[in-house]
Amino acid sequence: MSYSLVCIECGKEHGEESYTCDCGGLLEVRFKDVEVDFKLDGNPWGVWKYRCLLPVKIDPVTLKEGGTPLYRCDSLSKELNCRVYVKHEGANPSGSFKDRGMTVGVTKALELGKKAVACASTGNTSASMAMYAAKAGLKAYVLLPAGKVALGKVAQALMHGAKVIAIKGNFDRALELVRQVCKEMNFYLLNSVNPFRLEGQKTIAFEIVDELGFVPDYVVLPVGNAGNISAIYKGFKELKQLSLIDSTPKMIGVQAKGANPIYKAVMEGKDVIEPVTNPETVATAIRIGNPVNARKALRAIYESKGTAVEVNDEEIIQAQKDLARKEGIGVEPASASSLAGLRKLVENGYIGSDETVVCITTGHLLKDPEIVLKVCGQPIEVPAEFEEIIKVL
Ligand SMILES: *Cc1c(COP(=O)(O)O)cnc(C)c1O
Ligand SMILES: [Zn+2]
Repeated sequence: MSYSLVCIECGKEHGEESYTCDCGGLLEVRFKDVEVDFKLDGNPWGVWKYRCLLPVKIDPVTLKEGGTPLYRCDSLSKELNCRVYVKHEGANPSGSFKDRGMTVGVTKALELGKKAVACASTGNTSASMAMYAAKAGLKAYVLLPAGKVALGKVAQALMHGAKVIAIKGNFDRALELVRQVCKEMNFYLLNSVNPFRLEGQKTIAFEIVDELGFVPDYVVLPVGNAGNISAIYKGFKELKQLSLIDSTPKMIGVQAKGANPIYKAVMEGKDVIEPVTNPETVATAIRIGNPVNARKALRAIYESKGTAVEVNDEEIIQAQKDLARKEGIGVEPASASSLAGLRKLVENGYIGSDETVVCITTGHLLKDPEIVLKVCGQPIEVPAEFEEIIKVL
């Protein structure tokens, strides 16, 4: 296998340490001479089962990421009158899909001889990066929007030993700043503008086909910085180019109403976004107004003949409760927006009966315990007496 790093806008080739082209375009990894040595046969998998399609040359830094469960959701299927599956990425080592990208990205950092990695984060990127940096023996630096990161995620980044800096600004500003810092300090940038991270995340597509045994009609997922939807579509496209499948699913991006630049662009049929200046939503993982991967994501949506949908905070929390209470799947708010989006598309007739939908739930319930207490209330406190307990049952 050989590969090159190519600008998606002008086609110029770049060295492995580049993140964007001089023309401003995003970069993507393109493969040549791939010899496929895995079978999509449902056998035990994980990110590195697909190593022949992952662009690294050294032994991977791995915490056994990927291989997450794909649940058939009977109760939701009945209610929504289509075949609903949930791929629960909360089951990754750090509790989000970011681990798939970090195993590749941190391996690449070592391969390039870097001593430190850095990211801006709405939370999960920092938790995952801190974990993999710890495993690799690299220093980790994190910029967060102050007061806007779920508690579980900050806890992880701190415990795994990252230096965590909270800025009085939003994620978009943090990303601008960390890109400057990386240039100045020679840190390796591990936001999803890093094309190698997305290579790891594309394995979600491989696993969906591996486990289902066929290509679903739709893949529905939350969109924040828009890396994951781009990565997953790339995964399906590569399987098709290798003749391992003969169609790709329609990609559906779900955004929160207060942070919806991709949704607006799709509704207007545009291929560039207009940034949202003060993004706001309960789903902090997708509280992003200026998604860096917008161009890739819009291509994924248009090329796959998919669409985008927006959901409000109330719909997101309802979907979070439904996943938890009807299917036993505990997710954080951003993840639940996939189901909230699916519900909208069923209601407006976009998705019909007998179609197969895979919703990606991107992060674990325990990431954001504070929101749970807000929407579910506190436990009932009673005196330690048998009668008192019976009274409240
Ligand atoms: C990072 C993240 C997202 C958004 O993914 P993008 O690639 O930035 O679009 C959604 N949900 C969760 C839980 C995340 O951690
Ligand atoms: Zn270019």
